[in-house]
Amino acid sequence: GSVIGIMGGGQLGRMAAIAAARMGYKVHVYAPEAESPAAEVADAWTRAAWDDAAALDAFAAAVDVVTFEFENVPAASVAGLAAKRPVRPAWTVLETTQDRLSEKDFVNRLGIGTAPYARVDDVDGLVAAIERLGRPAILKTRTLGYDGKGQARIAAEGDIRAAAEAAFATIGSRPAILEGMVDFGCEISVIVARTPAGEVRCFEPAENEHRNGILHLSRVPARVPAAIAAEAERIALALAEAFGLEGLLAVEMFVTRDGRVLVNEMAPRPHNSGHWSFDAAATSQFEQFIRAVADLPLGDPARLVDAEMENLLGDDIDRWRDILAEPRAKLHLYGKSEAKPGRKMGHVTRLGTARSNS
Ligand code: ATP
Ligand code: MG
Ligand code: MG
Repeated sequence: GSVIGIMGGGQLGRMAAIAAARMGYKVHVYAPEAESPAAEVADAWTRAAWDDAAALDAFAAAVDVVTFEFENVPAASVAGLAAKRPVRPAWTVLETTQDRLSEKDFVNRLGIGTAPYARVDDVDGLVAAIERLGRPAILKTRTLGYDGKGQARIAAEGDIRAAAEAAFATIGSRPAILEGMVDFGCEISVIVARTPAGEVRCFEPAENEHRNGILHLSRVPARVPAAIAAEAERIALALAEAFGLEGLLAVEMFVTRDGRVLVNEMAPRPHNSGHWSFDAAATSQFEQFIRAVADLPLGDPARLVDAEMENLLGDDIDRWRDILAEPRAKLHLYGKSEAKPGRKMGHVTRLGTARSNS
């Protein structure tokens, strides 16, 4: 097929569309928002609600394959699309990763570790969960959270019931999970691609630093021992195989101080921590994504040079001229009109001068 349908209109779709165009594909974006960074660079845009049956039918008729840069599309919409066109990744992958509870259950069933966690449906349940897992801990909504939204931290000290009531109210009194706080040495992520034919390739781990729950910086190579990097890649590959993945899967992980690798969460799409690959890898995550979804041979994900990616949030983009003046900085702006605080407006990848061993 030659038209790739992308559900979701954000910067991930934009960069995927740029990669697709370079490979000769047409891109058709489906996104409800008035402003769409992806649609601006795509060949066609269906602007409609996620559950608009007529718009979904017309979209399916216009494309050869459907994929996602936004994973919270309703099940019924995906089922309707899947009846008409190949949908990659499959609905089951989205379903499992949309809900932090099913996601962690899936990971643990494979014998892969996560933070300790407990299902929370009300304040009484939260009190019991805190007593079981201990403090400090983090309460998270099961669905729809991103950039640290829908989370409340529970401090080590203080009255448990008062803390539980405050935390449950903070996340909007919705179905949640409580996670024990992991005392990590660092955070890393691995992006794995798998084709319908079963070819798999991993990007090397990126080392991620967050600020206020939002990714600030990703660095390659990650400053972890080779055995940790290998374990992280083994985990990502095992998850991709278990899903029968067709597309990309990003796996966020904690590296504990005693050298264990635990899965934090997964995203079945390109990932912010893989943006470095656009400028510093033989094949970018966006090209790899298009290759996997279009059922083509995968590219070589090898890093060509050391790199650091910094997210530009809100007013950070006011620094764009200074960034352009840096000799080895690659600036990416997403074309969003309003620079709200914490909003991802662009990123910069700073290239090193050599490729060090990871
Ligand atoms: P994203 O934007 O990556 O989708 P999110 O809103 O889904 O983020 P998480 O990845 O669950 O949120 O958490 C954001 C960050 O908060 C993590 O990267 C980590 O730094 C910290 N964090 C989350 N859960 C834990 C935990 N159980 N122990 C320690 N730190 C944690
Ligand atoms: Mg998340
Ligand atoms: Mg995360």
